[in-house]
Amino acid sequence: MELVNGRYQIQGVDLLSVCKDHGTPLYVYDADKIGQQVERLRNAFEGVNLRIKYATKALTNINILKLMRKYGTEVDTVSIQEVKLALHCGFTPEEILYTPNCVSFDEIKMAVDLGVMINIDNIHILEQFGEFYGNSVPCCIRVNPHLTAGGNAKIQVGHIGSKFGISVFQMRHVRKVVENFGIDVVGLHMHSGSDFLQSEVFLMAAEVLFNEAQHFPDLKFLDMGSGFKVAYKEGDITTNIEEIGREMSKVFKKFCKEYGRDLELWFEPGKFLVSEAGYFCVSTNVVKHSPAAVFAGVDSGLNHLIRPMMYGSYHDIVNISNPSGTQRVYDVVGYICETDTFGQDRKLNEVRAGDVLVMKNAGAYGFSMTSNYNSRFRPAEVLIYKGQAHLIRRREVFEDLLATQVEVL
Ligand SMILES: *Cc1c(COP(=O)(O)O)cnc(C)c1O
Repeated sequence: MELVNGRYQIQGVDLLSVCKDHGTPLYVYDADKIGQQVERLRNAFEGVNLRIKYATKALTNINILKLMRKYGTEVDTVSIQEVKLALHCGFTPEEILYTPNCVSFDEIKMAVDLGVMINIDNIHILEQFGEFYGNSVPCCIRVNPHLTAGGNAKIQVGHIGSKFGISVFQMRHVRKVVENFGIDVVGLHMHSGSDFLQSEVFLMAAEVLFNEAQHFPDLKFLDMGSGFKVAYKEGDITTNIEEIGREMSKVFKKFCKEYGRDLELWFEPGKFLVSEAGYFCVSTNVVKHSPAAVFAGVDSGLNHLIRPMMYGSYHDIVNISNPSGTQRVYDVVGYICETDTFGQDRKLNEVRAGDVLVMKNAGAYGFSMTSNYNSRFRPAEVLIYKGQAHLIRRREVFEDLLATQVEVL
């Protein structure tokens, strides 16, 4: 988003006009930004056999999935429904990794029937998998290296108390199960939580995976998950993807030499690919002065963007209706009957009723975490693609609230 002659634009498209055309609350995505992030990742890992598996749960609109396909990524999915969405968008089963947690074996069987790669993160499921399929279906094993990394307790999934992955301390047991049933393990995976900051932590985790890999002679790939952090505010520390790429490529090539074969290196970025491409646009309903604060109350809430309330995440907020207004301090809050503060003590250009405020970094875990709480409609979504605004999800209507309800009284 850039300010040109007093108007905010994305790819030359006037954002305020898009909001006028489609109404608010509205999610707007910049396709170019997504393409640039894919390129950055690819360039950072030049020289290794890289596969980018977009973590679809970050943003599942089918047009975003199709865009990813155009940009040459594959996908990582966490539910059978995400698998089906990916197939719907033209991904082949070979391009889809299915990384569920605590799902029933029935759902795993469904995924096998659809032909996708299964990532197993539980010894009991591994046993069932071996009993049922023997060596006939290749699979991947999710290892928990127990390294703590991550911006927030809820997204730290690598620590010892985490429910994710099979503990690195249980790998001897895993190998026994694999041998017993002759399971065809073609990949090892780890995903230690979002927001990896230092390349050292990443490399330490990789080291753990390299060690385990020695015990699995038929590997085709190692999957290092994700956790690439993006900047939320000015001066934020971000993952230095170029540095991680350089360092990782070096140790990965060395590992392949020792292993005796060139493996593929997989990553599963969600946030890194789509976060900065997303803008969440809301309209100011009221400006309310109280003794302690001035509230800008907007036509949205935790039903449309829950990250600030759930993770305490920071989203930069811009008043695009009044770019040259005097700056004042506001609490930007929603209309839901719980405390739903998008941003506290934010310096914004003077906010007047009707002004459109834009929250940045809203591409990942924004729309995909929306709900109908308070019986509000979900927002519409617009994709800016090749300099044109396309509506990619219509706003809900009253009938949508009734669609799944069975009226018996
Ligand atoms: C959520 C998730 C990701 C993506 O994480 P980001 O922080 O959005 O990059 C990758 N892999 C797995 C298994 C996940 O569950």
